[in-house]
Amino acid sequence: MSDSFVYPGTFDPVTEGHMDIIRRASSLCQHLVVAVLDNDAKRTVFSVEERVRMLELATADMDNVSIRAFSGLTAEYMKITGNKTLVRGLRAVSDFDYELQMALLNKSINPNLDTVFLLANQDHLYLSSSVVRDLAKHKADLTGFVPEEIKEIVAEKFCSNCK
Ligand code: ADP
Repeated sequence: MSDSFVYPGTFDPVTEGHMDIIRRASSLCQHLVVAVLDNDAKRTVFSVEERVRMLELATADMDNVSIRAFSGLTAEYMKITGNKTLVRGLRAVSDFDYELQMALLNKSINPNLDTVFLLANQDHLYLSSSVVRDLAKHKADLTGFVPEEIKEIVAEKFCSNCK
């Protein structure tokens, strides 16, 4: 067993695809930190506080998972927190190019870092936060796409006459 793994991402919002990676990664280490990127340059629908809150609700029953917000470079965050292992999910070949580039970049900034890739569950190959946002915009049922605990929060965000 290794110590802490860090699963960084935007999680705008967290999906069942992310949750699958969180469950599996948390069984490979003593503690999993889900690190939510607070990045001004990347426009998100949900604020970093909302994204953290949704992850907290969805992982409330997982004892060895904690949620943190961070900004700046992932490699720097890992250096500051003293963690050495990143987790990322791979869906298709299209993810691979970007992920390879990021893993190599992170290692060049911080040579102690390694990235562990978990292959997406085949049921989630097509699932992304942007698919969820599209579904929510069209008021589709989000069951099976996002954790039950956050379904309402996501639906309400896109509902113009809910309040
Ligand atoms: P980022 O902007 O850092 O890519 P995301 O929230 O989109 O943030 O994704 C975070 C990580 O989760 C990435 O490694 C991505 O490949 C992975 N991921 C996203 N959706 C899925 C899914 N459906 N199944 C498995 N991994 C996924």
